[in-house]
Amino acid sequence: MNRPADRCPGVFSAHPAADGYLARIRLPGGLITPDQLQAVVEVAETFGDGHLELTSRGNVQLRGIDDLVGAGNRIVAAGLIPTPSHERVRNLQMSALSGRRGGLVDLRGTLETLDSGLRGDPDLAALPARFLFSVDDGRGDVLAQRPDAGVVALSAERAELVVAGVRSGRMAPLDRAVDVMLALAHAFLTDRTDEWRIEDLAEQPAISAILDALPGVTDPQVPQALADPLIGWLTQDDGLVTLGSVVPHGRIPGRTAEFLAAVGTDIYITPSKEILLCDLTEGVADTVLRVLAPMGLVFDSESPWAQVSACTGLPGCDKSNADVRSDLERRVLEPVEAREHWVGCERGCGAPHTEHVQVRATGSGYERRAVPGMPLM
Ligand code: SF4
Repeated sequence: MNRPADRCPGVFSAHPAADGYLARIRLPGGLITPDQLQAVVEVAETFGDGHLELTSRGNVQLRGIDDLVGAGNRIVAAGLIPTPSHERVRNLQMSALSGRRGGLVDLRGTLETLDSGLRGDPDLAALPARFLFSVDDGRGDVLAQRPDAGVVALSAERAELVVAGVRSGRMAPLDRAVDVMLALAHAFLTDRTDEWRIEDLAEQPAISAILDALPGVTDPQVPQALADPLIGWLTQDDGLVTLGSVVPHGRIPGRTAEFLAAVGTDIYITPSKEILLCDLTEGVADTVLRVLAPMGLVFDSESPWAQVSACTGLPGCDKSNADVRSDLERRVLEPVEAREHWVGCERGCGAPHTEHVQVRATGSGYERRAVPGMPLM
């Protein structure tokens, strides 16, 4: 069966943009180690425009690449593409602070098992690049991202399946959750003709058969209300500290990223483009704040930059009706009360998957439109 290819870029299928090739790097759970981050900085500075861009799926992309082979080889050498056949099957999200702060259960092991199971299954390399898996530890943060196949923890032992962004009312033991999510992905490939997401399917008999075989939820949990942005000083359950920050336009200059890598701890990128430096002692966290804040990292959750994002716009994207990033820099001189996403045309790239106001350039000004989020129940 001939299926149209989606246009989502990867490293081996980089997308030609007005400012050079664009390559997106898969980060399961948003996790990048310090060594990997340093390697990505070197690629950005050697082959790209010297910046790292954060995506609304918690991945990283590089722009302006002039040597795809050289960049790809360096990214592979850094261990960022452990299974080349699956490098575009990249959207695996996890509650950002799972096992460190809040949540009903630590799902870090579940995410690793999901990633290795996915990469070990040759048939699942055929999943579209937009397909999203998520594991939510009960707080509702990645549930709100509308996963195609996901779980939300009901307790430390059980999880409810989430399909096409909707809680299914069916549950599985947590130690079977990965098997069920992978089975749902196979079922999507069976039910699919040329759709990219489960929500696009007119009928889904194979998916329904899997859900129908699972027991109904007997102990429904209301996910915690979505918390404030993960920005600033966040004390972990073990007394260590996570420092959360954002950067203007979700775009980290290479030199700033080098300093982030030099802290020497794991870093998580969230779908809200927050950068989480985890497992710091109070003394180290204090030093990091004093060094990185002057370099442009925003640690203040009241900052307008905590509420706004934008697509590439002009000059990087020739489809744009405006230089949206420059216009957004004027916007943040005023208070921003609600989440806003600015885009240069109707394609609306990079939009948050949660409730926000879209501000779209039309060629004769900007139009504002409310975009609803997903109810957590
Ligand atoms: S929304 Fe339009 S202008 Fe913005 S990056 Fe996408 S295609 Fe380009």
